[in-house]
Amino acid sequence: MAASVCRLANNTMKVVIAGAGIGGLTAALCLTKAGHDVHVVESAAAFLDIGAGIQCGANALQVMQHLDLLDDLVKVGVTPERVEFRDYQTGSSLHTMDLGRSYQDNYGAPYLHLHRSDLHSVLLGAFLERQPSGLSLDSKVASYDEGADSIRIELSNAQSLDADLLIAADGINSVIRKQLLGNTPATFTGNVAWRGVVPVERLPEDWMNTVVSNFVGPNKHMVLYYLRQRRLANFVGVVENKTWTESSWSAKAPWQELSNDFKDWHPTVRSIIDAVDKDSCYRWALYNHQPFRNWSSRRVTLLGDAAHSTLPFLASGAAMAIEDGRILQRSLDQASSLADGLQLYQRNRFERTAKIQSTSARAGKLYHFKTSLMRKAAFTALNKVGARQQAYLPEYDANTVKLT
Ligand SMILES: Cc1cc2nc3c(=O)[nH]c(=O)nc-3n(C[C@H](O)[C@H](O)[C@H](O)COP(=O)(O)OP(=O)(O)OC[C@H]3O[C@@H](n4cnc5c(N)ncnc54)[C@H](O)[C@@H]3O)c2cc1C
Repeated sequence: MAASVCRLANNTMKVVIAGAGIGGLTAALCLTKAGHDVHVVESAAAFLDIGAGIQCGANALQVMQHLDLLDDLVKVGVTPERVEFRDYQTGSSLHTMDLGRSYQDNYGAPYLHLHRSDLHSVLLGAFLERQPSGLSLDSKVASYDEGADSIRIELSNAQSLDADLLIAADGINSVIRKQLLGNTPATFTGNVAWRGVVPVERLPEDWMNTVVSNFVGPNKHMVLYYLRQRRLANFVGVVENKTWTESSWSAKAPWQELSNDFKDWHPTVRSIIDAVDKDSCYRWALYNHQPFRNWSSRRVTLLGDAAHSTLPFLASGAAMAIEDGRILQRSLDQASSLADGLQLYQRNRFERTAKIQSTSARAGKLYHFKTSLMRKAAFTALNKVGARQQAYLPEYDANTVKLT
């Protein structure tokens, strides 16, 4: 790929995005819709059916509505009626929150469970429809050289691209963040997450209503929900385990260890563990960062996990990346210069993303309290504050929130 010249007509910019994940593609769509010229560079040679469930609240789906993609996502997703926190052995209910009709009425969009591959395919298809030659696969951003009038992006295959702006959506181990902020390795949190999906015909007929079940127990919890119009059931079982530190999305681990981790758990949990393919149990070590205060220069900014990796206990990693894309595009369009636009973007994202990072870490501790007495007390307190305290997640509308 030859170095190309920047284009600045009609206030539009030439933008390179590193990473065609959920965050990179959402930003690409928001920016092309606003008239910018976007090229996405992705290190993977192909998109494989890796990963499992992703939860998207109204805050993420408002952005999908803006991109005219909500109907496509509803067709491949599942809307749960509510989330239920349950005791890991008795199954008794500790706390519930509505995610059905009243949630949609309150927040203007539904709550959806999506297979990551389905969400990714919808975003990718829409982007390629708008910008058919806008994606380079098997192409890794290695470094950048920031000038007064443009930025040169060096790829690991010795080619380069010139642009006005580089957006680093290259995930938790971002190489661009390393150049921008120095060495900021993610920290292992001492938690690992088991992941798997099971065709529903392998489960008992009355296995579970269309809800999210979060079974909580000492040092562990297990989240269960349906995907793909209820054809698949998804599990994520988080266990405190300091010995497994591999954070690959495709690292498998022995079924027997999964089974031992949840040995005496409720039959709903046991049924899915017993039904999963024994050689398809994925284990993923959970890493995160403390919030970064500054993640932009004059022509480079971070987005999604590169900017604010989080633990998955509020199910908000993908949603934050999606919100970022829309706020970045609105900030660039509102500000009078590129540098001001990047400052406006990070200023308006810092507080929210830092709050979600810290609340998510605290939620994990609450789910894992050692005794049932402690867990009951914690969830009783949560029941008292009710939906009010948790409303900050879905009520954020990236399409309309005031940027200051
Ligand atoms: C293959 C995969 C499967 C996943 N499965 C799940 C799941 O099942 N459930 C869940 O909750 N979360 C999953 N995640 C994580 C989840 O998608 C993210 O935490 C969240 O969506 C934030 O997205 P992001 O775009 O910031 O980062 P990511 O989704 O991690 O995307 C980063 C992208 O950047 C690419 N990349 C990395 N370095 C470079 C580089 N130097 N140059 C160019 N490209 C680069 C990566 O290949 C990747 O496509 C998965 C991520 C990946 C990559």
